[in-house]
Amino acid sequence: MTEPFPQPVAGTVVPRFGDIATFMRLPVERDPARVEIALAGVPWDGGTTNRPGARHGPRQMRDMSTLMRRVHHVTGVAPYELARCGDVGDAPVNPASVDDSLARIEAWYAKLHTAGALPLSAGGDHLVTLPIFRAIARGRPLGMVHFDAHTDTWDTYFGGFKYTHGTPFRRAIEEGLLDPKRTVQIGIRGSLYKRDDMEWGLAQGIRVISIEEYFDLGIERTIAEARRVVGTGPTYVSFDVDGLDPAFAPGTGTPEVGGYTPHEAQRMLRGLRDLDLVGGDVVEVSPPFDQSGNTALVGVTMMWDILCLLAETVARRKGRI
Ligand code: MN
Ligand code: MN
Repeated sequence: MTEPFPQPVAGTVVPRFGDIATFMRLPVERDPARVEIALAGVPWDGGTTNRPGARHGPRQMRDMSTLMRRVHHVTGVAPYELARCGDVGDAPVNPASVDDSLARIEAWYAKLHTAGALPLSAGGDHLVTLPIFRAIARGRPLGMVHFDAHTDTWDTYFGGFKYTHGTPFRRAIEEGLLDPKRTVQIGIRGSLYKRDDMEWGLAQGIRVISIEEYFDLGIERTIAEARRVVGTGPTYVSFDVDGLDPAFAPGTGTPEVGGYTPHEAQRMLRGLRDLDLVGGDVVEVSPPFDQSGNTALVGVTMMWDILCLLAETVARRKGRI
């Protein structure tokens, strides 16, 4: 690994609308052993219970990610100077089978994990986070900072069916992949199925910050609380774009009004520097419901912030900073 780190194609050399769209205009690198941060897509929405279309998320997010440049304008982090990053393509999926897709996605992420690459993924619906956890969290339950309007800890749908985008974190806790006491969920809102919807997660010890509490606390105190909950152990960042107000991110499967703004979310992500991060994702971008492309742009802007966090983490571990 003495060669220079892969660099994005500069927008000052090849215009941003030109050539092949990869995540952040990075080179395609199919061999995960050659990257430290693997930007990946999971084009699958077989866990969706309402409006579909997140299977189209990765392709449009790659397109909109060509707007990202190289240096973070607030933190000054230049991720491609800190870590080897590449677009490793999309996880294999079977649009006709939930079980087969979960198995294929897990096997593919297990290869990334074995190769030592941290995954940064674009969904796909939120169920895709479960096979990612199965690949990267075995034997060491992860903490999680989870941005979402929904807890995604419901039990079953449609008469005992256990795998939808409303259930991944219940399954991850049951399987010992997610430590509920090191999990914080930010932005929870929306009408419930029944009064006790929230009780299972709370009883496991999840710290649920409703959107009402978020607005009462403000950005800085929410960051402090999230950091207190996840502590110094290995932590994953999962960002469901429906945590944002649908005025900013309407192209999503299960919109809930009254969320945070993209700027507030960016500020919260920047508050997660220096955690022991092991990966992240941005999920539930559904281009067919996204009339302007703005949801995908907002989504990849969140990916950019998470990428800067991961690059610092890698650089710290490697002794580069
Ligand atoms: Mn979700
Ligand atoms: Mn959601």
